[in-house]
Amino acid sequence: MIREPLIFEISEKGKRAYSLPEIDVPAKDDVLQNLPLRSDIKGFPEVSEVEIIRHFTRISRTNYCVDEGFYPLGSCTMKYNPKINEKVASILEFTASHPYAPSDLVQGNIEILKTTEELLAEITGMDAFTLQPSAGAQGELLGMMLIRTCLEERGNPRQIVLIPDSAHGTNPSSAHICGYRVQEIKSNEKGTIDADDLAQHMTEEVAALMITNPNTLGVFEEEIKKVAEIVHSKGGFIYMDGANLNALIGVCRPGDMDVDVIHLNLHKTFSTPHGGGGPGAGPVGVKRDLEPYLPVPVIEKKKNGYFLDFDRPKSIGRVRSFFGNFLVVVKALSYILSLGPSGLKEVAEVAVLNSNYVRQSLKDDYHLKYTTPTYHECVFSDKFQREFGVQNIDIAKRLIDYGVHPPTMSFPLIVQGALMTEPTETESKRDIDMFIDAMKKIAREARENPEVVKSAPHTSYVRRLDETTAARNPVLRWQENQEIEG
Ligand SMILES: *Cc1c(COP(=O)(O)O)cnc(C)c1O
Repeated sequence: MIREPLIFEISEKGKRAYSLPEIDVPAKDDVLQNLPLRSDIKGFPEVSEVEIIRHFTRISRTNYCVDEGFYPLGSCTMKYNPKINEKVASILEFTASHPYAPSDLVQGNIEILKTTEELLAEITGMDAFTLQPSAGAQGELLGMMLIRTCLEERGNPRQIVLIPDSAHGTNPSSAHICGYRVQEIKSNEKGTIDADDLAQHMTEEVAALMITNPNTLGVFEEEIKKVAEIVHSKGGFIYMDGANLNALIGVCRPGDMDVDVIHLNLHKTFSTPHGGGGPGAGPVGVKRDLEPYLPVPVIEKKKNGYFLDFDRPKSIGRVRSFFGNFLVVVKALSYILSLGPSGLKEVAEVAVLNSNYVRQSLKDDYHLKYTTPTYHECVFSDKFQREFGVQNIDIAKRLIDYGVHPPTMSFPLIVQGALMTEPTETESKRDIDMFIDAMKKIAREARENPEVVKSAPHTSYVRRLDETTAARNPVLRWQENQEIEG
């Protein structure tokens, strides 16, 4: 395979991607004089139009995406996003409306926001929503800020947040950034929260329990009501990480499980393409007692239309400019309305069915630390393969050769050598079978020819990259005469 050069390497002095006719009016030199313009950018690439188009087109074709094939990246819910949502979000009236437009000129846009808030509240059983946060992690931080502000007003913000050992890394980070000390709750042999361990940790210094349901093992917290009772009895809050709502949507509601605050990931469950840092949204839903603290502005529906209420004395303020990622909300609303209640329920049912099909089909080939029934994802480990010196990273890399994106690796932390697999509802049986087949082949290769797995990938554009140098020793600036390793 030929290595695509960097754009700097194909640069040739004087090349341009445009050509304009000679200026035929007197030039005015002073127009731009007072602007902070650079006269020269050192090493700026100079290429023609065809070169730039081909360069980026070739690079784009070395990428893997969910429109290309199976993408079982657990926890991330990498599902196919119906194109109708993109089409709706690209309507000019949405894309061209200015965020500073006065609200009486964009009543339709505000209605979209309000309708989405109301539908998310109905879907989750919560009382009110804000759409401001741009990601799940920001939603978590906002949720913790709401809890903290409420507790402060009650007289004591408290010091500790309890988090199960299976939690996503953003949970402890969010609690920590909000000024809390994190205490870990051990999972039991079923992979769920140990209610006794929780009861022992639960004191009047605990502000909240952050819980994910189904958790990152794909296991439903069956004792959630009991867990909530333990926490509530000492005046704490239940924060639910709703990133796994794909497993529950249309079937049951976190609000009915006595959850006080939840964030959703519109870019996971509600079908916005994600990965690669594209825009997302992490709306936060609350029960009544936390509603006064929601960020401003809050959308109010009045007889003569929608208006933005900034006069909320207990509000924590803004957490995001304007209304969050508006077009992501448009896509989510389009998704919700095009599926309807029965369609959303089918999402959860098929997601759980697909995941269980994968689990049953591979359980003899890959070790399962937890044998509890799972929902939308399941966590295999490399325990059987490690006997032959093959680890989860090798299996993940070998999958690339079979045309599949690897599952999430080495998370949750309580499963050594984890391969967390989430097929989602959008995959056909044929594609799932292709994945199962590839996984079985790799299990056989690990036994019979481990070297081929350990040296994978063999067919990709680049082979094994150094996993740490890019993070430890980043090169962020182009330097002339730079050595490029391929
Ligand atoms: C993805 C995810 C998050 C974080 O969401 P972002 O939108 O990536 O910030 C939190 N918890 C769980 C379980 C997740 O899967």
